[in-house]
Amino acid sequence: MTTIRQEDFVQSIADALQYISYYHPTDYIRALGEAWEREQSPAARDAMAQILVNSRMCAEGHRPICQDTGMVVVFVKVGMKVSWDSKLDLTDMVNEGVRRAYKHPDNLLRASMVSDPLGRRKNTGDNTPAIIHTEIVAGDKVEVALAAKGGGSENKSRFTVLNPSDDLSDWVLDTVPKLGAGWCPPGMLGIGVGGSAEKAMLLAKESLMAPIDIQELRAKGPDSRAEELRLELYDKVNALGIGAQGLGGLTTVLDVKINDFPTHAASLPVALIPNCAATRHVEFTLDGTGPAELTPPRSEDWPAVTWEAGADARRVDLAKVDRREIATWKPGDRLLLSGKLLTGRDAAHKRIAEILKSGESLPEGVDFHNRFIYYVGPVDPVGEEVVGPAGPTTATRMDKFTEMMLSETGLIGMVGKAERGPTAIESIKKHGAVYLIAIGGAAYLVAKAIRSSRIIAFEDLGMEAIREFEVADMPVTVAVDSRGDSVHKTGPQEWRVRIEEIGATRP
Ligand code: SF4
Repeated sequence: MTTIRQEDFVQSIADALQYISYYHPTDYIRALGEAWEREQSPAARDAMAQILVNSRMCAEGHRPICQDTGMVVVFVKVGMKVSWDSKLDLTDMVNEGVRRAYKHPDNLLRASMVSDPLGRRKNTGDNTPAIIHTEIVAGDKVEVALAAKGGGSENKSRFTVLNPSDDLSDWVLDTVPKLGAGWCPPGMLGIGVGGSAEKAMLLAKESLMAPIDIQELRAKGPDSRAEELRLELYDKVNALGIGAQGLGGLTTVLDVKINDFPTHAASLPVALIPNCAATRHVEFTLDGTGPAELTPPRSEDWPAVTWEAGADARRVDLAKVDRREIATWKPGDRLLLSGKLLTGRDAAHKRIAEILKSGESLPEGVDFHNRFIYYVGPVDPVGEEVVGPAGPTTATRMDKFTEMMLSETGLIGMVGKAERGPTAIESIKKHGAVYLIAIGGAAYLVAKAIRSSRIIAFEDLGMEAIREFEVADMPVTVAVDSRGDSVHKTGPQEWRVRIEEIGATRP
């Protein structure tokens, strides 16, 4: 019989969450480095370089890879010969570990969980509760696999029940292009097949805990239908040309995982869950001898990638920019923004819409006239920082507010990540506005361009408050120009054709 002490378990959860907030798994770093080496699309290569440089900076600075520091998902396997020296139950111990990690004074993490999801959506303040899956297994150890899952990629989870005679590959290849780029590729696809509806989702989620090993699988050769499908889907999804951040390119996925389970003769349940550029997971085992020890990656695990904005990037003075200037920008143009940017995301937009609808004025200082808004919910600063990691959030969620913002507030530009939908693009075109993207998963790198930050309205919304950032040379790319042309349409279209011409996407 092994006894696990409460403090060892709680501290191990806290340490693991801190660890994954700033260390990418080495298999992800290696796979992304190899994809960067072979990438031929300049925009996608630039995005990958930013993600890799950001990854190394976060490891060195012990600050989060992404401003969305994730929802905690924990798989716990408890051996039947384990006893506990604990006052708390397992759920409370996990949540105590989450609280300790997310409130760590040296590396504060962003609390993203909200209670009352259909009502007030109030932030719980410490990122609890975690999503916990427990299994009782043979043995005298406790095995834990945990992840911090970003909302952008989790939102792209899909589920279906196919007919047993349907082709899984067809469904995946039909589904992935419809996900857009809000899941911040390149990442992984986790696919769960079989069982029941909820079992398929769990299989998909758990598959994302495994290391990236598709090249090893190719070298060894498949031993099962699931392994054959992994290789087939890896090639076919990459041949779609979606590319890093949806900009068009050779690599959309670094691996495809499939977990399967027996199912009913009438059914073929299938779940698909993507993992993003902020792939964050780790496993540890407790055997009663103390808390988990986690081995950090070595500096030589990162490829020798450097990133700079490039000579072709245009400098933009946000104090002077106007509709005439933005009309000269084209999709794919790289810009360096300097000056003052307002921030706002889901909750701020909802409140602005309510205020304007009621005929009232926006709070003092909230003046969008001739200005840009950055869709961001930053991490709180520590030490000398003016702001913590502050990468973009998915712009598509703000589509329904875009006409209101452009027609009623004088806003001329937006900065976010991923594509815009048809209605938002129509509004951008109608108002001669523009939509720019920063790189999702490069939040610490982006934050280095922010020189000051102050909350100017809606402080009660926490990370969703409206802030004014002063930025210097903040790197962005034009995604939708004032004519409504979108790089997220043209990029993947172009690279799909080029991949057909140049052949396979494999190394
Ligand atoms: S990389 Fe993208 S999807 Fe992942 S957590 Fe960050 S913003 Fe969200």
